[in-house]
Amino acid sequence: MQSDIVTRFAPSPTGYLHLGHAYSAGIAHARARESGGRFLLRIEDIDVTRCRPEYTAAILEDFAWLGLRWEEPVRIQSQHFSDYTAALETLKQRGLLYPCFCTRRQIQAEIAAAGHAPHGFEGQVYPGTCRSLSTTEREARIAAGEAYALRLDIAAACAQIGRWPLVWRDESEGIQSVTPGLLRDGFGDVVLARKETPASYHLCVTHDDALQGITLVTRGSDLFAATHLHRLLQALFDWPVPAYAHHRLLLDKSGERLAKRRNAPRLRDLRAAGITPAEVWRQAGIQPDRDAGG
Ligand code: GLU
Repeated sequence: MQSDIVTRFAPSPTGYLHLGHAYSAGIAHARARESGGRFLLRIEDIDVTRCRPEYTAAILEDFAWLGLRWEEPVRIQSQHFSDYTAALETLKQRGLLYPCFCTRRQIQAEIAAAGHAPHGFEGQVYPGTCRSLSTTEREARIAAGEAYALRLDIAAACAQIGRWPLVWRDESEGIQSVTPGLLRDGFGDVVLARKETPASYHLCVTHDDALQGITLVTRGSDLFAATHLHRLLQALFDWPVPAYAHHRLLLDKSGERLAKRRNAPRLRDLRAAGITPAEVWRQAGIQPDRDAGG
């Protein structure tokens, strides 16, 4: 069967994988296999302060044990920083990025002084302090070696989009509309490159989904809101818009989402305990190879 479906699983190697990751990867794998499509694995290791090569190796090992099959070569984001820098440069040329010198503490103080803390999808929305710095001050502070992040000027970015609303579709939740107001209140001037990391998750994931021709993004519902921002980036770069399937998150016995910090059972521990891949898939409640046809 010929199919255009291209799915991916894109873990960040900040620790060992647990059952929740198997569940998420299994869904992407099943969606590709059941339609005769393609399944890609992508390592999102741009945060060099938290990602470790041994976790990347462990991901490949765990997935091979589970019987997942992915296309080679695997894209490893840390080997492609120049791609993300080029995308940032494009935004800079269009006047959409500005350097932000604020520390976390300064942002907190600014928000406290303003007397209100607008809450967005990812916590408090940046009050925009560095947006109004003069070019001279920016240049002087950069020349003096002050560390800075790059923020997207969300109002300026929205002004460059010809048609509103932007739309994207989630398989269960249906068509989603993205407006300038939603982006302003939900994200504000988001960071697209951190002081210690030359690019952000939002930029890299959207860039790579476009580059790799992903047609169906399957991922946890914790990233549902982030898709609004990804849709803006797609519009700014004229990238294709994939379909989305945000899935539920697996919970532990106390009803909390499975997470490394809450000691979710790691796949390698299950393996060491003699649990079979079939049992892992049964526990996760999915069949990654359904209708595989070989
Ligand atoms: N790398 C991201 C994470 O591990 C997920 C990326 C995505 O599926 O969009 O949380």
